[in-house]
Amino acid sequence: MKQMDQIITQLTASDHVLFASHTDPDGDAIGSLLAAGLSMKAMKKRTTLYNESAIPAVYRFLPEVEAIVSHLDGAAPFDTAVVLDCSDLERVGAGALPFIRETPVIINIDHHPTNTGFGDFQLIDSDACATAEIIYRLISRMEIVIDADIATAIYTGIFTDTGSFRFANTNQAAFSICNGMVACGADPYNVAKHVYGTYSLGRIKLLNRALDSIEISDNGRLSLMTLTREMFDATGTHPEDVDGLINYARRIRDIKVAVLIHEYPNGSGDEKRKNGQRRFHVSLRSDGAVDVSRIAALFGGGGHRNAAGFTVHTDITDIKNGMMELANGL
Ligand code: AMP
Ligand code: MN
Ligand code: MN
Repeated sequence: MKQMDQIITQLTASDHVLFASHTDPDGDAIGSLLAAGLSMKAMKKRTTLYNESAIPAVYRFLPEVEAIVSHLDGAAPFDTAVVLDCSDLERVGAGALPFIRETPVIINIDHHPTNTGFGDFQLIDSDACATAEIIYRLISRMEIVIDADIATAIYTGIFTDTGSFRFANTNQAAFSICNGMVACGADPYNVAKHVYGTYSLGRIKLLNRALDSIEISDNGRLSLMTLTREMFDATGTHPEDVDGLINYARRIRDIKVAVLIHEYPNGSGDEKRKNGQRRFHVSLRSDGAVDVSRIAALFGGGGHRNAAGFTVHTDITDIKNGMMELANGL
């Protein structure tokens, strides 16, 4: 509670607060960002909401989502930077780092067990089902009135990070907070309709390629999906369309660890090829027996026991072989 009260004092004393969450955002990264940002706006504070990546189509229904910016030039200076759902500061992406480092006070709010503890104040709870759960606790203590927009953002963060109340992080708070959020105006049908309801034709075609790419280790314990830039180009999709596809690989009988390797586009800045090598994100999912956050940490990434990831510059054969070798230890 001491940290929370210090954070509230700091936020109350700030005039301009930056909120930022991790690149390639999921529903929790976006929901926490919007819930925190809208709450500060209700306190009549100047806020800047930042995410480096494109917001996936399924989350663009969220109230005020258009307020999220992907560049900070002209927005600084900030009195306080609040970093959400990031296990290390670098997860916000290279574009925001210099601005955040220049900000006098950094607040770290997260639920990853691999959190490095960066920043001046921390609210880290690996028992929280989502960062949105911690944001809920914070704004409740600040006695901010939760309107339908804030409720929808918190509900979406918890609903998506728990895999619709199916994953191992689903706790009592997930139900009690979501129950409260519905009372405040969140509409479960509307959220579910957007998050799971409709896909672009391209995403369905991408799913087809993802399923077709599945390889199983000799011992039958590891499944591997691969999505290359060529597959994104052929289906008119982007890495943001990958969200959720790994669950198909994880659900195969006897699989202990599922891996999804996807390539980043050969874009600008950080995404340029390094020494001719391509840049890949590797997602890992476990059935609970193996702690995949430890595997991700070996490659400079992080995450949770059952869901983790990392990013590497490499070539596709090396990373596939490396991941297949993991099967020997399963
Ligand atoms: P993903 O691999 O994007 O499906 O993410 C699975 C989990 O691992 C999420 O909780 C992410 O926040 C975390 N994660 C993914 N990539 C990284 C990374 N490079 N560093 C730290 N955590 C990560
Ligand atoms: Mn996240
Ligand atoms: Mn999260």
